[in-house]
Amino acid sequence: MIKIPADSDFSIHNIPFGIFSTANTSPRVGVAIGDFIIDLERLASFDAFGFDTEVFSKNTLNQFIGLGKAITRKVRTDIQGWLRDEHSVLGSSPDLFIAQQDATMHLPLQIGDYTDFYSSLDHATNVGKMFRDPENALLPNWKHMPVAYHGRASSIVVSGTDIHRPKGQVMKKGRGTPQVQPSERLDFELEMACVIGKENRLGHSISTAHAQDYIFGMVLFNDWSARDIQKWEYVPLGPFLGKNFASSISPWVVTIEALDAFRVKGYDQNPPVQEYLKFEGSHYYDINLEVSLAPENCRPTTVVRSNFRHMYWNMLQQIAHHTVSGCNLKVGDLLASGTISGPDQESFGSMLELSWGGTRSLILQEGGERTFIEDYDTVAMHGYGEQDGKRVGFGQVTTKILPVL
Ligand code: CA
Repeated sequence: MIKIPADSDFSIHNIPFGIFSTANTSPRVGVAIGDFIIDLERLASFDAFGFDTEVFSKNTLNQFIGLGKAITRKVRTDIQGWLRDEHSVLGSSPDLFIAQQDATMHLPLQIGDYTDFYSSLDHATNVGKMFRDPENALLPNWKHMPVAYHGRASSIVVSGTDIHRPKGQVMKKGRGTPQVQPSERLDFELEMACVIGKENRLGHSISTAHAQDYIFGMVLFNDWSARDIQKWEYVPLGPFLGKNFASSISPWVVTIEALDAFRVKGYDQNPPVQEYLKFEGSHYYDINLEVSLAPENCRPTTVVRSNFRHMYWNMLQQIAHHTVSGCNLKVGDLLASGTISGPDQESFGSMLELSWGGTRSLILQEGGERTFIEDYDTVAMHGYGEQDGKRVGFGQVTTKILPVL
């Protein structure tokens, strides 16, 4: 049986799903374990699963996820069982394991719709202080609903995909007219996103009590943002070109069941929330999050240390709010958390906050200093939970910025 390094994100407690290919195989469904990938199309050829395994030959996870939790959960627990048994199909067939370094990872989902929330209290407070009124940083609606906008699904790319700096209209200070130029304030946003695993019919809302059934899993999410373009365009309809040029996700979808061990209690929400946003139990997650920045040919510097538990609104509330109107969610939709910032400066989840609107520079270990992201910089996000020696991680979402086209 393969060896799994003790500090691996992809321990036996994880079993995340993704889409990979190799020089000899077309894109298909795999599971990450240690430094390897289990080829589920090949595993299925051993008659290991009791259902139509065509879904493992697809180039997205949508059809597999669409089989429903009764099946997807069983696939995960069956694989865990076989990994513990050297006489099992996995124990006796070493060629089912492919080294991750020999594989190419692909966008794991066909993402029909993508919604971006704004659910971190510290992030919303920081941005409100910078752009509006330091005394009244939060808008009046913020503590009454998880505010969001509908983002652009077509420009979501997988980790490892380079992105060109966007250009657009910018209104510079003291000028009467805007000018079209490459963004000078390119930024990342540290987020996580949940992958919807079940559809609700149009007109039917999802309650917080049932919302968990609609979450298949989670990925790391980098919501690339051009702050100068965003600032000029965002009133009154919200983000558009400042956001739609690209977002990046990690390739492995970690199931919500694998994150169970990391549940924690969140904020006491005050003022009390509307009835449809009330929930019971612990629905926040203790997931360590880090962002590093590396100029070309330089070692990376960790610039953010944060945690997913800093959210004010949780995913159950986001789903209940998204559908209270009767809006339908579909399998493969992504609901991103919004920038995750904690209370300390080190935990701020964007350069906008770290450099406080570009007024102070971050000194890097190598490669100078930064207020925003420069050409050929590589930004990498990493996330993992760790509890009682059990580690469940997401790997990385890594992106290099290329000059404007
Ligand atoms: Ca965002």
